[in-house]
Amino acid sequence: MDLYKYIDKQLTSLAERQQLRQLNCVEHDTAGHALWQGRPLLDLSSNDYLGLAADTALQQEFLARVSLDPADKDYALSASSSRLLTGNHPGYQLLEEKLGSMYGDRSVLVFNSGYHANVGILPALAARGDLICCDKLNHASIIDGAELSGAKVKRYRHLDYDHLEEILAKNTPKYRHTFIITESVFSMDGDIADLRRLSELKQKYNAVLIVDEAHAFGVYGQTGCGICQQQGVIADIDIIVITFGKALCSQGAAAVMNETMRSYLVNKMRSLIFTTALAPMTVSWTSFVLEKVMTMTSQREHLSQLADTLRRGLLDRSYETCGSGHIVPLLLGENERALALAEQLRNAGVLVFAIRPPTVPFGTARVRFSLTAAMTYTDMDLILSSL
Ligand code: PMP
Repeated sequence: MDLYKYIDKQLTSLAERQQLRQLNCVEHDTAGHALWQGRPLLDLSSNDYLGLAADTALQQEFLARVSLDPADKDYALSASSSRLLTGNHPGYQLLEEKLGSMYGDRSVLVFNSGYHANVGILPALAARGDLICCDKLNHASIIDGAELSGAKVKRYRHLDYDHLEEILAKNTPKYRHTFIITESVFSMDGDIADLRRLSELKQKYNAVLIVDEAHAFGVYGQTGCGICQQQGVIADIDIIVITFGKALCSQGAAAVMNETMRSYLVNKMRSLIFTTALAPMTVSWTSFVLEKVMTMTSQREHLSQLADTLRRGLLDRSYETCGSGHIVPLLLGENERALALAEQLRNAGVLVFAIRPPTVPFGTARVRFSLTAAMTYTDMDLILSSL
């Protein structure tokens, strides 16, 4: 069949199932708000969890340091090469050292994005003959990395560690190396992994434990080191993946691990080796924000209280929600219901989108309130009264 005819048919079929995705043009506005079709709406669809995207004082403090002298390479706008060639500018070393000491003297490797990290780590470490145990609701980038590796992938029921143990007990003797990989805060359900239990299972079955803290870094833990820090298990995790595009208001990602693992990834990880490095300007901004984020305890507490207020409000109104973190889902079931409610909320000033399969399992379409510390209790009232 002609490819374009085939594509047309696929697009029509997606539209009929209410699953057609589109790129919408959105401008950021004041704290917690975005301009949607010309109107400023409360933005519940961003990952700017600490509310830094509209923090002009913070951004001005950084920009005041930016030198316009082309000889000052810390603020160059392109690295012009990959890290293994001439793109490994001094900002990388500084950022990796800062992160390493935040995590108690671990080694750190910075990547271009969380997607690059997840799509590259497992294929570098695992292959045919290995076993990867993956939470059923892990992010697409983790699933892609696991599939790319060529290892046997077994998905355990979401947060069901008895099911995981069943899989481990039955299968580990048959495979060379076993990996367990999970998110810490799950982005679609807002619920949180029990990393202590996973650390115990890792010890018992001699597995490698990888935790993706994309939605937790900056938001949980005394200095923002995520759920690993909150649950006191940093030292037990082989690789902690953190990202900078969410709470840190920047771009990029990193893995926290030991030096041997770091050297191995530098040699084997294709999504690190074969891509242009992050611009020095971006890395400098990440380093700058990182130091500020470590002490943002009041923002972390405020965010947690906002989430409690919204969850309680939803339950009081007999809505179905789940999880316990700063991402608050409202479960609706059918795609049409989610699409209709999202539109109703947007008309009332609340910017949300329907989240539908395949992003979430079939029959669990939802809208998701992704809260930020720039929001207020009045904003929570607006959401609840708009329902
Ligand atoms: N991991 C998780 C759990 C994510 O939710 C995301 C992005 N939403 C990523 C990784 C990818 O991170 P990035 O946006 O930096 O590519």
